[in-house]
Formats: sequence, structure tokens, C-alpha cells
Amino acid sequence: MKKLIAGNWKMNGSLAANEALLAALAQGMDAAPACDMAVCVPAPYLASVQAQKAGNPNLAALAVGAQDVSAHAVGAFTGEVSAAMLKEFDCRYVIVGHSERRQYHHESDALVADKAKAALAAGITPIVCVGETLAEREAGHTEEVVKRQLAAVIHANGHCISEIVVAYEPVWAIGTGKTASPEEAQSVHAVLRAQLKAATDQFARVRILYGGSMNAANAASLLVQPDIDGGLIGGAALKADDFLKIIAAAQ
Ligand code: PEP
Repeated sequence: MKKLIAGNWKMNGSLAANEALLAALAQGMDAAPACDMAVCVPAPYLASVQAQKAGNPNLAALAVGAQDVSAHAVGAFTGEVSAAMLKEFDCRYVIVGHSERRQYHHESDALVADKAKAALAAGITPIVCVGETLAEREAGHTEEVVKRQLAAVIHANGHCISEIVVAYEPVWAIGTGKTASPEEAQSVHAVLRAQLKAATDQFARVRILYGGSMNAANAASLLVQPDIDGGLIGGAALKADDFLKIIAAAQ
């Protein structure tokens, strides 16, 4: 299984800054990379990112994704963006259940599961984020929390579960500079793998990414773990050199 390195630009960028970042990525990108690559960009920039990609063969292997999707198909949901709309902009992936959405927008496990379902119905791969807070880790509840979050997605999606990507993102490691040690991350990934194995005989298709302050310096030691199939990268995805180094570490 190829590893997947996905950047999450979060609410950063501008037309000019995105263009410069993608141009810098294109310069350093291998035409036939050994890993899959994606950038999940703010929805208003999907068209311009796709246009730049179309005009630059070096970016052909870089997939484009979004950072959220509505659980609803269409209608009176002001401010939301449907999976069908994302599909029109050739989104290959969409992040669902990022901890920033669970925390600031009070997204429940059930809503995240419905968002994953909406993405799958439109032919978009959801990158389902799970992860414990620091308080939950310190209370010894890490396994219980990530299993509960993933169970909701498994329950809502049945056999389609083999089409998702999972991202283990300990909340205490996101944007903090604190990374889970390779051993800490691996042990949670093994739990998630076992849960997927119990849910589908196609479990080997599901990539489990690690996210949380992954950077050029620590990527290799995380990506070498047997159950870490790639990375979801926030801050370091905004710096072309760092993102390219992480991609190189995944080859
Ligand atoms: C993220 O936003 O998914 C993330 C992992 O952020 P960072 O790499 O900045 O911790």
C-alpha cells in the first residue's frame, strides 16, 4: 500500500500565497512519486488550485482535497458545501471530523459519520480524523475515545468503510509542536487497525495516517512504523521545503 502524505492548509493562504506555494512544490516534486500526495485547501481556492495544477505537469500527481463537507445533499443549509459541489471541483479527498471542527463547531461522532457517508456517496474519500485530548490521554482513555469515534463511522458506513482513510491526530499534538512518539502513535494505530479488521475483510485497503506536529525532522521515524501509512500535515504543509521533505521520507 502506497503511503499518503496529505497537507491540511487549514484557514491559511491567499490566491498569491497559494500560487507561490504550489509553484515551489512543483519545482521539487518527483514526476513519479512513490507515495500518494494531496493538499486539502480552503473551499474558495479549489478552482484556482485545480487551474494551476492543470497548467503544470509537475503537479499532476498532487491530489486536491477539501477540509469539510456538509452531511446534507442539498438545500437550506446556509454556509455549507455539499459533497457533489466538491466533486465538481475534482476533490479526491475531504477531511471530516478534524478536532478543530469537533471542538469549535461541536461536531458529534454521528455528524462526522454522516459527513463521511456523504463524501463516499459522491465518490470522494473521507479522511476521518480521530484523536484524544490531553485530559483524555492522562485519564487513560485514549483507546476508548478513538475507538468510539471510529465506531460511529463504521456503524454508519458498513462495508464502504474500506474506502475511507483514517487519521489518528492526538489533539494535544496538533499545532503544538508536541508529537506523539513513534511508539505512542504506533500503539494507537494498531488498535485502529484491529478495529478495522473486525469491521471489514478489506481492512488492508484502509490507510491510517498520523497527524500532529509531523515535520521534516520527525517524519521518517513516524512513517517507518508498521501501522503508520502516511501523514496529515498542518503547519509543515505551508512550507514547500518541509512538505517535500516529508514526502521524501514517505518514499
Ligand atoms: C492538522 O491540522 O491536521 C495537523 C496535524 O496540524 P499540525 O501538523 O500543524 O500539528
